[in-house]
Amino acid sequence: MSDVLTQEQRKLNMSHIRAKNTGPEVKLRKLLFAKGFRGYRIHFDLLGKPDIVFTKKKIAIFIDGCFWHKCPVCFQEPETRKEFWMKKIQSNIDRDKKVNEQLKSEGWTIIRIWEHDVRKKPDDAIKKITETLEKTSKK
Ligand SMILES: [Zn+2]
Repeated sequence: MSDVLTQEQRKLNMSHIRAKNTGPEVKLRKLLFAKGFRGYRIHFDLLGKPDIVFTKKKIAIFIDGCFWHKCPVCFQEPETRKEFWMKKIQSNIDRDKKVNEQLKSEGWTIIRIWEHDVRKKPDDAIKKITETLEKTSKK
């Protein structure tokens, strides 16, 4: 898909990532639902705007965009306006850290999944979530 987009279109797409139901978020949700995990909320008002939240178990799931959060596997530095984008990306990374710390201190369990894992290895992503859900239920 990304191959047919121009760089401008791609930028536009990425700028909307947190704002609406994106591909990977919907995909993950459908898989969780199919597995019988239905006690989650979306668009739940929590620090950092997690994509999926299990409120009773206090589990917040973030799907991190590979560009926006500088994925070690697929991140590539932008060719244009490099300084601008890198600054933005660094501030996302800093915010992620703060969000993690704050939520953890409030008793939340945080799961961060790379967007590429949802696309390429959804079963692994689901496994990571279900294992955490099962661990949490034993508490
Ligand atoms: Zn990635």
